[in-house]
Amino acid sequence: MPPYTDHVKRVALLGASGSIGRQAIEIVTAHPELELCAAASGSTPLDDVPAPLTQVGGDLTELLERAEPDVVLNAVVGFAGIHATLWALERGVDLALANKESLVAAGDLALAALERGGGRILPVDSEHSAIFQCLEGRARSQVDTLVVTASGGPFRGWTRDELDAVTPEQALAHPTWSMGPKITIDSATLANKGLEVIEAHFLFGIPYEQIEVVIQPASIVHSLVRFRDGAALAHLGYPDMRVPISYALTYPERAATPLAPLDLTSLTLEFAAPDLETFPMLALARQAGKRGGTAPCAFNAANEVAVAAFLAGRLPFLGIPDVVAETLAAADGAPARDLDDLLAADRDARVLAERGLSVA
Ligand code: NAD
Ligand code: MG
Repeated sequence: MPPYTDHVKRVALLGASGSIGRQAIEIVTAHPELELCAAASGSTPLDDVPAPLTQVGGDLTELLERAEPDVVLNAVVGFAGIHATLWALERGVDLALANKESLVAAGDLALAALERGGGRILPVDSEHSAIFQCLEGRARSQVDTLVVTASGGPFRGWTRDELDAVTPEQALAHPTWSMGPKITIDSATLANKGLEVIEAHFLFGIPYEQIEVVIQPASIVHSLVRFRDGAALAHLGYPDMRVPISYALTYPERAATPLAPLDLTSLTLEFAAPDLETFPMLALARQAGKRGGTAPCAFNAANEVAVAAFLAGRLPFLGIPDVVAETLAAADGAPARDLDDLLAADRDARVLAERGLSVA
């Protein structure tokens, strides 16, 4: 086999105008062994993006067919990323996955497609990139628990009363990460950590009982794995998504990035348990995950509707978990046999959530 550097990896970047997308362009541009073969966004023009094929809106799989990528970096936000995720998995094309919503919603369907295609998922979500690295080369039977870390978001330590009048502007001010608006709100409600618990379950095949969440306010410890012998391996680094993006795109080479080495003497690492009463989205996600079938899809769809309503000033912050809980209670959660079933489950949950908004 030729050495890795002789082969240029063709990267198709979906969500190129977003927070992950922009950082991915920086990484691809810095590495001659990576070539941007295609880029897409939902509605933002991509005139300044150095890709031979670009597409704004429309069916992303058409672009992927034409581009023939070696790796698809799916950095679309929300369930809209589903088609690209399944396209890559079915064909055995490497999937660098930032779009956690598609894996959460598709769950077993995505794993079946992965199995048929014979490719791999390289996680871009920082926690999952961390766990992927801590687990590498180790049998699942050695694992005691996965520990997914969370910053706690801008409202860590707040009471429900204090959260009552929270504005989108307050919720959009994340203490440690600079990200797109949807995931920033998800971080404030802890829905993001809920999605990440489900994401970890599907990525690593670990039961929900063995996936824990712990608050690490500085976002330096990106996650840990506890093993059965009492050892725990952690992944540390500054909160900068260029690291997991670069790791996924250059795997298994771990190419250099411009980041400064971690200065340990300037750090104090604190950990705390999440406040599940004040932030019910984490428990709701776990319930949906354990129920299985299309319950995670309904959780995700209801959350997308509720977050959009909150950002538009149509729903109070504490209304987000209410809408999601009501939708989950009303959704049938039956397993999806195929993509049509999944699309129907997503649509039905959105209708239920919209109904919940009008009474909230
Ligand atoms: P963002 O809002 O900044 O960007 C979203 C991108 O998706 C944009 O390019 C937008 O044009 C595109 N898009 C939206 N709808 C589309 C559609 N229907 N078809 C095609 N493209 C569409 O979001 P982001 O913060 O970059 O997050 C992207 C994904 O990565 C999300 O799933 C998020 O959860 C995940 N993620 C983000 C971060 C982060 O630091 N930003 C960290 C971990 C995971
Ligand atoms: Mg994350």
